[in-house]
Amino acid sequence: MQRFSALSLLGRALTGHRSWAPQWRRASPQPAYDALIIGGGGHGLGAAFYLASEHRLSRVAVLEKGWIGGGNTGRNTTIIRSNYLFDESAALYDHALKLWEHLSQVLNYNVMLSQRGVMMLAHNLHDVQVIKRHVHANRANGVDNEWLSAEQAQQFCPPLNIADIRYPVLGAALQRRGGTARHDAVAWGYARAADALGVDIIENCEVTGIRRDAHGAVEAVETTRGVIRTPKIGVAAAGHTSVVMKMAGVRLPLESYPLQALVSEPVKPVFPCVVMSNTMHAYISQSDKGELVIGAGTDAYTSYTQRGGLHISAHALEAVCELFPIFRRLRMLRNWGGIVDLTPDRSPIIARTPVPGLYVNCGWGTGGFKATPGSAHVFAWTIARDEPHPINAPFTIERFRDGYLIDEAAAAAVAH
Ligand SMILES: Cc1cc2nc3c(=O)[nH]c(=O)nc-3n(C[C@H](O)[C@H](O)[C@H](O)COP(=O)(O)OP(=O)(O)OC[C@H]3O[C@@H](n4cnc5c(N)ncnc54)[C@H](O)[C@@H]3O)c2cc1C
Repeated sequence: MQRFSALSLLGRALTGHRSWAPQWRRASPQPAYDALIIGGGGHGLGAAFYLASEHRLSRVAVLEKGWIGGGNTGRNTTIIRSNYLFDESAALYDHALKLWEHLSQVLNYNVMLSQRGVMMLAHNLHDVQVIKRHVHANRANGVDNEWLSAEQAQQFCPPLNIADIRYPVLGAALQRRGGTARHDAVAWGYARAADALGVDIIENCEVTGIRRDAHGAVEAVETTRGVIRTPKIGVAAAGHTSVVMKMAGVRLPLESYPLQALVSEPVKPVFPCVVMSNTMHAYISQSDKGELVIGAGTDAYTSYTQRGGLHISAHALEAVCELFPIFRRLRMLRNWGGIVDLTPDRSPIIARTPVPGLYVNCGWGTGGFKATPGSAHVFAWTIARDEPHPINAPFTIERFRDGYLIDEAAAAAVAH
């Protein structure tokens, strides 16, 4: 690791940081690799890192059509939690949360994990029943989650308005280990650590085709930078999974929707945790820069525009103003969108595919950032061993044919 004195930092700042070493090599595609990952988001970069660090595959490349972290990894609202309903999901998301808790040390890169607590509000009897069911299921699985009365919720988050609103707060679930992390740092940390282990990170390299041999197995990818041979391809292309998988002739039960978020002008620290309301369709936290980070639901229609409808963010802002009247006079700074792919049961697919040598990690919908280290870890296992890790074994494609769904619609909802 490079170390700098304050004086040398100042000197470098004044001269435009020209002498700073890049954090990863600007790799060019080689003719062949042992494994290729399509998609340079957190899940793809993380999988490459674990392939190299835990499975000793050294000839690995990540192919990214734009810049790493430029997809949903760099667009999300960074919320991390593991309080999903079903045993399979609790195992997956809590695996991720445990890895988050040491990720900065493992990568030697500060991913700025902040376990400030994630609170989910209940506004009606149905919410109370569903959320309490989650609390009990989580505790049975050893995942921390607790029920708070409305007054306790307000004590935990003083700006919260619990009574003087159309949908009064009746209580909340609180996962204290939940919180946020710095999204760019996750991409950069994995990229730097993977690069140090010999992984080629190849940006501006779009995959345009997948070639299969006479037996149907993958043998190469066609890219905007030439053909690259490989016996193993891991697809982690988030909102564009259907497009990439179609290149290999695989159709998945996915729908792609725009999802947007927005941030306010920065203010002093005022908001101590993450709060989400599925019923009112909004969630909020405060970034380390002071901006309020606000998210909404997906658009109602499928699209690849990376831009959500204005009425969706207007609705989220109305909900935020009701729940937190102190923010009514804040101005919004910017908004943006990403494309998320949704499965029918709102749980991901991390699995082998009918095409030998082709593996897929997708269907994270509105909430895959929190899973990044766990998902990448078990995806690398699946690619390296050609069999699922016990944690991702239930997250197959075949479940949509066989009916073994993992229905997390209530846990996912607007929430992230
Ligand atoms: C507005 C918004 C808010 C969100 N908030 C949260 C949240 O608070 N908490 C949470 O847990 N999750 C959240 N999510 C979801 C989360 O961001 C994603 O599930 C997660 O980041 C997906 O990571 P990934 O690595 O799979 O995909 P990405 O980061 O999208 O990476 C996929 C990459 O594949 C590349 N690619 C696509 N096609 C090709 C091709 N043909 N060739 C080469 N490369 C290709 C793309 O350029 C992209 O960089 C949010 C998403 C959005 C959009």
